[in-house]
Amino acid sequence: MFDTLSDRLSGIFTKLRGKGKLTDADIDATAREIRLALLEADVALPVVKGFIGSLKERARGAEVSQALNPAQQVIKIVHEELVKILGGEARRLQFAKQPPTVIMLAGLQGAGKTTLAGKLARHLKAHGHQPLLVACDLQRPNAVNQLQVLGERAGVEVYAPAAGNGVGDPVEVARGAIAHAVRAARDIVIVDTAGRLGIDLEMMAQAAAIRDAVNPDETLFVVDAMVGQDAVATAEAFRDGVGISGVVLSKLDGDARGGAALSVRHVTGQPIMFASTGEKLEDFDVFHPERMASRILG
Ligand code: GDP
Repeated sequence: MFDTLSDRLSGIFTKLRGKGKLTDADIDATAREIRLALLEADVALPVVKGFIGSLKERARGAEVSQALNPAQQVIKIVHEELVKILGGEARRLQFAKQPPTVIMLAGLQGAGKTTLAGKLARHLKAHGHQPLLVACDLQRPNAVNQLQVLGERAGVEVYAPAAGNGVGDPVEVARGAIAHAVRAARDIVIVDTAGRLGIDLEMMAQAAAIRDAVNPDETLFVVDAMVGQDAVATAEAFRDGVGISGVVLSKLDGDARGGAALSVRHVTGQPIMFASTGEKLEDFDVFHPERMASRILG
C-alpha cells in the first residue's frame, strides 16, 4: 500500500534538496506535483484540495523554521497534514458504562467484516475482556461457519442462529445475543452483519434494524482499502443509512494506491480506529495516524 505515493513524494522532495530558499514559484510547483501524486493515489478531490490549500499557506507563512532547510520544512508540513487527514490522535473504543459494550460491524460484502470480527475479539480477549461474537450475517453462504471457525481460533464464544447458515432473522439473533451476553457475563458483544456487493436499500434497512435492536456503543464501518474512489460513496451511504462511529481499514497489506485510507476520515467525519493487514487473526493493529503518515513518507 502507498508504494507509488511514497515514491512520488520522495522524488518531489529530492528536487527541493539543493535549494537554499523556496520562492512562491517553487512552492506552487511543488504543491502542483503533490496534488497530482495524491490524485493518482485515488485520494478524493475535496481531501486533496484541503491538503494543498493548507500546504501552500503553511509553506509561505511565517512559521518556516530557520533550523530546517526548505526540503525538510516541506516534508515536515506534508507529514503534519497527512496526520491531520488521517485523523490526528488515535481514538480508543468507547465502552458502555453498564456492560455489555456492543460493537456492530457494517460494510459491503467482502470488505473484511467477518475476518475483522475475529481479529477484534482476539485483540479484546488479549486485553482481558470476555467478548461474544454474534453471527448476524445470514445472507452470505458460509458467513456463520466462517465466524464459528474464527471464534474457535480466537478462543471466543460465537452466538449463531441454531439453524446455521442463511436461515433466521438477524434482528432476532442480535436480540438473543444481547440477552445471552448478559446471562453469560460477556462484557463485549461484537455483531457481524450482512453486506452486499453494492450499496443496497434492503441491506441498509437490515443494518439499521439490527442497530435499533442492539443499540450499539460503537458502529464500525469496515472498508476495503483496495477499492479506491468507490470507498467514498460507500462510506457516505453507511454514514447516512446506519450511522457510524468509527472506521476500520481492511486489506492494508494490499498493493493498491491507498486513496481510501486517506479519504475516509474526511468523508465520514469519524476516526479510523483499526487496521486489518492480512488474513490471519494476528494481522491487526490499532490505527495510529502518526505511524501511517511516517510510513507514507518512507
Ligand atoms: P465480509 O464479507 O465483509 O465478512 O468479508 P470477509 O471477512 O469474509 O473477507 C473477505 C475476504 O477478504 C476473505 O477472503 C478474507 O480472508 C479476506 N480478508 C479480510 N481482511 C483481509 C486483510 O486485511 N488482508 C487481506 N489480504 N485479506 C483480507
